[in-house]
Amino acid sequence: MLRECARKYYYTHYGMWGGWSVTATPRARELYVLKNLKTRQMWAGTVVHEAIGRSIAHLRNGRSVLPPDEVVEITLARMRADWIASKRRQNRADPKRRVGLFEHEFALPVSPAEWRATAAIVDGCLRGFYASPLYRRLRAVPPAMWLDAGEPRGFPLDLGDMTVRAWVQIDAAYRGDEGSVVLANWRTGRAGAERKDEQLQTATQALYAMATWQVPLDRLRIIDLSLIDGDERRLAVSGADLEAARASILGSVRDMQALLADSAQNVAREDDFPKTADLERCLACSFRRLCRGRGIAGRAAASPANSRPAPVAPIR
Ligand code: SF4
Repeated sequence: MLRECARKYYYTHYGMWGGWSVTATPRARELYVLKNLKTRQMWAGTVVHEAIGRSIAHLRNGRSVLPPDEVVEITLARMRADWIASKRRQNRADPKRRVGLFEHEFALPVSPAEWRATAAIVDGCLRGFYASPLYRRLRAVPPAMWLDAGEPRGFPLDLGDMTVRAWVQIDAAYRGDEGSVVLANWRTGRAGAERKDEQLQTATQALYAMATWQVPLDRLRIIDLSLIDGDERRLAVSGADLEAARASILGSVRDMQALLADSAQNVAREDDFPKTADLERCLACSFRRLCRGRGIAGRAAASPANSRPAPVAPIR
């Protein structure tokens, strides 16, 4: 985010601070509401991960799991309720717990067929997961062998010059045979498609697993499953990848610190975080109205940047 637009990074991590409180300033509250918006693709990814996450929690506890038809039915019913709540702007009262859709917030022209296509993707991803060889393997993991599932985890990462707290989120981690540890992640994006920072994410998960479960790199198995096409890949991480991840994170931390007015106290000033010059990027940004004003759509259309392909909304 910092690379794409420093101002967006500021709004997301500093400007919205305290926006959840009843004593928040109107601007902090608005930034907090906007920060929590989801595109329909992000929403689809969230509901798929949450539905699967509930099944995994049951597996870890040795309880029975709902049949796929029931999981799909419950999830689609939840999506209908989310959609209605978002349309009624109920997210403005409770941005964290109520879904607010980017398309509703900016009154984008999304046809009923496009909304149905989003639901169909969720339906297909869930059925694909429960029919996958990976799910069959997960069902066979004894509860005592599970290590983690879907929770954000922070850990101290030694970068040489400094130690920082890094965060990872692994969909499923368990002990395999012969001292191995398996890390599995599933995605509602296409596995074969180019995904920025995939190598960095994978290497950071490996660093976390090695530090937390004392597993050597050659005993780590990292699995990536695309829920769109069912493609399962084994991802390789080398020692050089770990060093590259450390260097990348160190560079990123320094970039963040360089923009702060007071790095030791974590003090940021909005004007020190420049806006991107790419108005096309602004069109896909939740902060666009507050940051660029209501005329952004027209200005972006006239921008030379608009001759490039439309940005792809993030899908987890
Ligand atoms: S509207 Fe544009 S400049 Fe403003 S935060 Fe979003 S991407 Fe950055």
